[in-house]
Amino acid sequence: MLSTKVFIMVFCLAVVHLRATSAACWSTNACIDKGVCTNLGGAAQAGHCTGAAHIQCCTCPRCIDETACRNSGGTPGAGICPGAANIKCCKGGNGGGGGGGGSTGPAPSKPTNTMLTGLADILRSAGVNVVEVAGWKTRGHGVMASVKGILVHHTAGPATGDFPSLGVVRDGTGSLAGPLAQLGLGRSGTWWVIAAGRCYHAGSTIDDSIYGNSNAIGIEAEGTGLPATDSGHANWPEVQYQSYIKGVKALQKAYGVATARVIGHKEAAVPKGRKIDPNFSMAEFRSKLG
Ligand SMILES: [Zn+2]
Repeated sequence: MLSTKVFIMVFCLAVVHLRATSAACWSTNACIDKGVCTNLGGAAQAGHCTGAAHIQCCTCPRCIDETACRNSGGTPGAGICPGAANIKCCKGGNGGGGGGGGSTGPAPSKPTNTMLTGLADILRSAGVNVVEVAGWKTRGHGVMASVKGILVHHTAGPATGDFPSLGVVRDGTGSLAGPLAQLGLGRSGTWWVIAAGRCYHAGSTIDDSIYGNSNAIGIEAEGTGLPATDSGHANWPEVQYQSYIKGVKALQKAYGVATARVIGHKEAAVPKGRKIDPNFSMAEFRSKLG
C-alpha cells in the first residue's frame, strides 16, 4: 500500500502543473484561529492556510439547520459552514453519533464496511440516466468503511465522447489499479456506475477519516480540465452540470452526507495545490445542493 499514495495522483491529473497554487483549505473563509474553530464545533487542521501557525483550516463535521441543532441538544456555531445562513456547525447534541437525530439534519452514515450496491437505484431515483457497468457490484479495493464524504472530480480525459474515460476509471492505469472511482458522469449527463467498493481516487486528504478512499464516494465527471479555472461552470455542458447536482443530491440523501462534506478534489487534496479538479466553483456547486 505504500505505493498507493504515490501513484494515486496520476489520475485526474495531467494538467495539475498548469496551476501552481490552489487553496487547500475548502474555503479561505475557513482559515481561522484553531481555538475559535474548536469552540464553534469544528476541527482545525494545520498546513492548509497561509499566515500564522494558529490560523488553520476549520471543517465542521456536522453542518445542519440551527433549529434542528438546538432541538437535538446541540449548540449552533456560525461562520464555518457553507450554504444558507441557517446552516450552522452543530456542536454536541445527539445527532452525530448514531441513533435519534432530527428529521431535518443529515442522518449518520448508515452503511459501514460494505459494498455500496444501492448506487444505481439511488441515482435512478434522482431521475438521471444510469448505465450499470458489468460487474460493478463486486468491483472495488475492498469494502467502504463508511460514506462520510463525496469527492467531486473531473477526469481530464479526451475532448470528445460522452464518457471516454470509462476504461481508465474502471481498469486503472499502468501504475494504479482500477477502479479509480465508484461513479462516472458523462457529458450528456448520464451516470456510469462502475464500482461498489473502495476506489483509488482521493490520495492524501485533509482528513482521510472523511475524505479518504475508505470513507468518500468518488465521482469522475468527464472533462478535459481545461481551462484550469476555479470559478463559475461555463466550461461544462449545462446538462452535465445539472445532472452532477441531481446525482450528488440523491447520494447525500441516501447516505446522510452533509453539503459541507461534498468537496472538490482540489479542496481535499494535500499537499496544498496537488489537485485542481474540478475546474468549476465548488462554492457555487454546493450552493445548488441546498
Ligand atoms: Zn481528482
